[in-house]
Amino acid sequence: MSRQMIAGNWKMNGLTAEADALAAALLRGVGERAGAPGAELLVCPPFTQIAAVSRLLAGSDIRVGGQDCSMHEKGAHTGDVSPSMLRDLGATHVILGHSERRQNHNELDETVREKCVAARRAGLVPIVCVGETAEQRSADGHEETVGWQLKGSLPDGFADEEAIVAYEPVWAIGTGRTATAEDVAAMHGFIRAELKRQFSESGEKVRILYGGSVNAGNAATLLAIPEVGGALVGGASLKPDDFLQILSAAQ
Ligand code: PGA
Repeated sequence: MSRQMIAGNWKMNGLTAEADALAAALLRGVGERAGAPGAELLVCPPFTQIAAVSRLLAGSDIRVGGQDCSMHEKGAHTGDVSPSMLRDLGATHVILGHSERRQNHNELDETVREKCVAARRAGLVPIVCVGETAEQRSADGHEETVGWQLKGSLPDGFADEEAIVAYEPVWAIGTGRTATAEDVAAMHGFIRAELKRQFSESGEKVRILYGGSVNAGNAATLLAIPEVGGALVGGASLKPDDFLQILSAAQ
């Protein structure tokens, strides 16, 4: 199995001083553990901080990503940011279809798929998020929901060595309520099977991250589950000590 990835989603947090301090603390923390093989590390600051954070982390092993991008390359799209603009600032990855985008910006699977195509065309690695709501899970519709999201959001040719999907049950995001190890194992197994159905043997190559209230205390358990290729971390990624502890738990 390839190295795990620990990705921090800073969401809409971080004025200049905070973002600089967070990036500097990570840089110091990672530097202090020089020699350890460790996981791949990614931080996704808000758009406004990507340039500064990229500059601060340049030359380190910590990659920088966006939290969303446009499906368009350029033109009359007021307020949008294109994938090549992210690349231009030093980003290598972009989170797409996060449940907060799906819920608050009415992003449909089709939107996510088009963004995914545009991101890949610009040379960014998309991290495509899927996950069921509490209602869907209590109605036993979690597999069906996630199955449809995968089918609708992932474009043809998606499943290559770099491809990343993040399973983030909506009810576990920012709630302090993580899915049980059994639920995570079952859903990651289900996602792997769906990816293989969709992309044949290439479906094996896709890295599947878990996200939803991952913290320093539960990371080791979650990251030890088969088919968990890393973690997408929200709240705890804003606390450098916690984020570095999560990194230590990765394989
Ligand atoms: P959380 O967020 O770790 O704060 O639950 C995860 C995410 O939304 O990616």
